[in-house]
Amino acid sequence: MPHNTPTMDSRKEIEMHSFKTAALLGALFVTNLGAGFAQAQQDTTLNLYTSRHYQSDDTLYENFTKATGIRVNVVSGKEDELIQRIRREGRASPADVFITVDAANLQAADEAGLFETVRSKTIESRIPAQFRGEENRWFGFSYRARVIAYNKDRVKAEDVQNYADLANPRFKGKVCVRSGGHVYNRTLMASMIYNQGDEKAMDWARGIVANLARDPKGGDTDQIRAVAAGECDVAISNHYYYARLMASSKPEDQTVVNRVGLVFPDQKGKGTHVNVSGGGMLKHARNKEAATRFLEYLTSDEAQAYFANGNNEWPVVASVRLNNPQLDALGRFKVDNISAGILAQYTPKAQRFIDRAGWK
Ligand code: FE
Repeated sequence: MPHNTPTMDSRKEIEMHSFKTAALLGALFVTNLGAGFAQAQQDTTLNLYTSRHYQSDDTLYENFTKATGIRVNVVSGKEDELIQRIRREGRASPADVFITVDAANLQAADEAGLFETVRSKTIESRIPAQFRGEENRWFGFSYRARVIAYNKDRVKAEDVQNYADLANPRFKGKVCVRSGGHVYNRTLMASMIYNQGDEKAMDWARGIVANLARDPKGGDTDQIRAVAAGECDVAISNHYYYARLMASSKPEDQTVVNRVGLVFPDQKGKGTHVNVSGGGMLKHARNKEAATRFLEYLTSDEAQAYFANGNNEWPVVASVRLNNPQLDALGRFKVDNISAGILAQYTPKAQRFIDRAGWK
């Protein structure tokens, strides 16, 4: 075929143009067919990006598919990596829903403009406002408490009833806590700023740093183990790490549980700081209806139980009952009822405070 040759006359050029147009139309037709087919496929598949990976989640997805016919395609990864990936993919992102833990991570995704408001009477009636993000752009589906773990031989429970106690000079060189750069501490710090004001919150962070038994290292479980081992007397941890040790059949884990007591702090004040596992619909979701149905499904009794139990957390729908002996043993407690959405907005400031306090 003569193609853009210098010898081509105008007539040929016109013919050529018509041919090209026809070819182009044909190509468009084929493309449309393809798009239609892809659309039909998309209608039955939900792309879920998640930093959660518990076995019970798989059952939850299967049950959702059984109930709705919508398949769930799961992409797992670390929260920061998934957030970066969704940003990078932009409009072309196949992700419909993003699930992660901690209001600070949800805030990071929200600040990047990844989420879109979901309007759903089901979700609004099921999830208390406390567990919803700004303008319903994300939702908490279960919650966890940030608690105090103490060595029962060395510390009296009455001396560690409040977060403030951990900054008391009496615990100098006796506090273990993970890195100040970790979201769990960032969000706890956000609650301090909100509840106590800037000055007291900053003093608290400095007090924690002054009381450290060692440079922050490891995760929450490592802090609990260090308390049991006597490397420190008190630690800060999310409750479910302790619940996991409680459920463990390993003798060394049972030894840890026997040596370490747990306190839900600030019961006479604002209540214990809680954070969420949650997520939302993405702005560039291709299948917004399926995304909304999935988020609604997560508020059902059945899904709430799977989602919360997967990580020994409490369901945000208060009427849902879990069959979880560890949580039953930990008992009920007063929850700080500050909205997770408001808390999330304080997390960037909280990180600046943590950095200024030298909480590495
Ligand atoms: Fe965790």
